[in-house]
Amino acid sequence: MTIDHEGEFVLPSSVAPESAKAMAEAIEFYSSEYDVQMFQGAPGGHKTYLGVENSACRFCSRGRPEVTFKKAAHAISELLGNRTLLSRYECDDCNARFSVFESDLAAMSYAARMAGQVLGKKGVPSTKTREGKSRIDFKRDDGYLIQNYEDDPIAEIDEANHTLTIGGQPRGYRPLGVFKSLTKTAVTLLRDDELPHFKDALTWLREKDVSTNLTPGSLNFVCMSTFTPGESPFGNTKVILLRRRSSDGSGPALISLVMFGCTSYQTVVPSPSLDAHHIGGSVKMPPIPIFPFLDDARVRGLTQFGLRSLASPSSEQTEGVVTFHVGSIERVPPS
Ligand SMILES: [Zn+2]
Repeated sequence: MTIDHEGEFVLPSSVAPESAKAMAEAIEFYSSEYDVQMFQGAPGGHKTYLGVENSACRFCSRGRPEVTFKKAAHAISELLGNRTLLSRYECDDCNARFSVFESDLAAMSYAARMAGQVLGKKGVPSTKTREGKSRIDFKRDDGYLIQNYEDDPIAEIDEANHTLTIGGQPRGYRPLGVFKSLTKTAVTLLRDDELPHFKDALTWLREKDVSTNLTPGSLNFVCMSTFTPGESPFGNTKVILLRRRSSDGSGPALISLVMFGCTSYQTVVPSPSLDAHHIGGSVKMPPIPIFPFLDDARVRGLTQFGLRSLASPSSEQTEGVVTFHVGSIERVPPS
């Protein structure tokens, strides 16, 4: 397939790499060409901080007393389930600006977070219909509680196919806002000495809107995603950064993979300087094999692979629909 003018997007065979051959090629590609670094919060609520005390802000270069650093700056979005990995180099101004892009990410990932039982600041997201009569809530000990009224349905059971489809209100999000939020996370996780290669991305991140000083990556704004049915099979929310080893390799210089609940998002972090040789040429980026990061005991089905463009600055609507596989159906008298 071709992604706009920036170059050709080469997948090993197709977007759905169920075949063992495509997966083996992807493993070979990433292990021979990339260094992998993983980031996640410590379990048990113990907070870890990136950076040193009294750092200047990584994004706007300002320090105390010009700006304040009072808010907890989550290195990976709290809404994706990270509560404990924080950074010391994000000022309150930048934090407030990024929260707007984070609401785009919140809307796009809403159904994924609900299905993946991802605990954000306010617990697993609930959902309700536009009329507000039917609703779905998640309770830690009881699972999902679905209150479904016939005249205002939110859920549908297909007994023949053993599926339960739930749909809440569609939510509006700007795809480019989502990309900006994912880019901000990756830039937060970089080492200080890498930042000069990402100054274009930093300039874009400093803008309040999504389009000003826009920096396309070598694959523009592609987001590859996975969905693995199960009880939060990724467990603890985590991000891996994949750094290309050679300066002229066939893949992008920096790839980020965010994993939460049942879902992962794979994006390229824009660096026109490191990826200069890709402009107008072809770029290779197979789906990263996510299987080593899944807890097999929690997996309940085959991983589905997806590909979307996050290039649009205009608001789009989520489908707001999730389909679950149902093991068994039991009829109980209404209480
Ligand atoms: Zn700042």
